[in-house]
Amino acid sequence: MPRAATFNPFQRDLPVDLHLSDETICARGGWYREFATRPSAPAIYQTTAFDMHGLEQLDAVASGREAGYIYTRDGNPNHDAFAADVAQLEGAEAGVVCASGMGAMTAVLLAHVKSGEQIVAARVLYGRTAQLLNHLQSSFGVGVTYVDANHPDEFRRAITASTRLAIVESISNPLMEVADIPAIVAAIGDVPLLVDSTFATPCLLRPLQHGARLVFHSASKYLNGHGDVMLGVVVGPRDHIRKVRGLAALYGVNSNPFECWLASRGLRTLPLRVQRVSETAGQLAAFLKQQPGVARVYYPGLDEHPSHAVARQLLEGAFGGMLSFDLTGGKPAVAALFRALAESIPFSPTLADARSTLSYPAGTSHKFMTADERREYGIGDGLVRLSVGLEHVTDLERELALALAQLAGY
Ligand SMILES: *Cc1c(COP(=O)(O)O)cnc(C)c1O
Repeated sequence: MPRAATFNPFQRDLPVDLHLSDETICARGGWYREFATRPSAPAIYQTTAFDMHGLEQLDAVASGREAGYIYTRDGNPNHDAFAADVAQLEGAEAGVVCASGMGAMTAVLLAHVKSGEQIVAARVLYGRTAQLLNHLQSSFGVGVTYVDANHPDEFRRAITASTRLAIVESISNPLMEVADIPAIVAAIGDVPLLVDSTFATPCLLRPLQHGARLVFHSASKYLNGHGDVMLGVVVGPRDHIRKVRGLAALYGVNSNPFECWLASRGLRTLPLRVQRVSETAGQLAAFLKQQPGVARVYYPGLDEHPSHAVARQLLEGAFGGMLSFDLTGGKPAVAALFRALAESIPFSPTLADARSTLSYPAGTSHKFMTADERREYGIGDGLVRLSVGLEHVTDLERELALALAQLAGY
């Protein structure tokens, strides 16, 4: 149906053809004229692809002579905006964002090893990272050697001529052991070190300054910080990141524009959030030590924590928002605690939300280990992990005290 002239063409500076049919108007709709004032918040480029004037522009953009994008799997402004901010925070040349932490881990591993080559990894790793390494080993013949991250010499002994990458978490889950990155770097020589710094964030630690080559974050956690996004990011030297980005596009683990936009928004408050959760976690660690039924508290800010000295040396003035504690009553006490706190500090298999959350390492992140292995690493059946959020500390103390008091029978 040809459109009558009631349509107000003056609002648009895209060519308006009054003879277009409804179908064509709809199919080409959604555009508005460009304007001179900039939005005060970044735009979302929720687009699959980018239109080009012609073949000359394709060449110019593909070769980098002209700034531009072609296809969102390969690159998107929201992706680059977030990656560039994280790279800048970490002091890195470049960064790449993927669909989740695991997507980013997949891309960075595939960019660095192939069949017959080897990875040396810390024994205590995020459960899915360990599973991914085991999968690369069993399905693709990548050698994986696990070492105790608390003994940098073990890294030295595990390195062979085919080692292509070493992996460690800056603050480990769930016992919050802080890796002595300078000592590990000294032990591995030229082998690039990839640090999963999800728990530390660039506000507490900049692994590249201590000699690491690459830094990984599950941006689903602190970088976004609001429990509503899944993203992963890797930053490091430009030549490494170019390879990671290429593999992320090839395997289709690219991020999407809206989640990058949300993560950029979350990132605005990262330093304030990290400062606040560190203060609250420090107070809660001291508080929990005094509570009945709590056998031990694991927080790198406590003098008695095995990593306290390394943490003081490497972490920048604070100890983060993650802590764990052992309940003397074991698993039944954990179950009762989770029931008692379900409406205030929920059991939720994530961390670094704005709210405080609890998790149970033996049943979630470290379920893949045998009970014996867990015992060996100190992950007991009564171990609870607390991700400290932005609530007021007095509310959290009251809620925890009340719930722990109810456990007296365990
Ligand atoms: C969550 C997490 C990951 C995996 O990230 P996803 O975004 O959940 O895929 C990796 N490492 C650590 C330390 C994590 O906490």
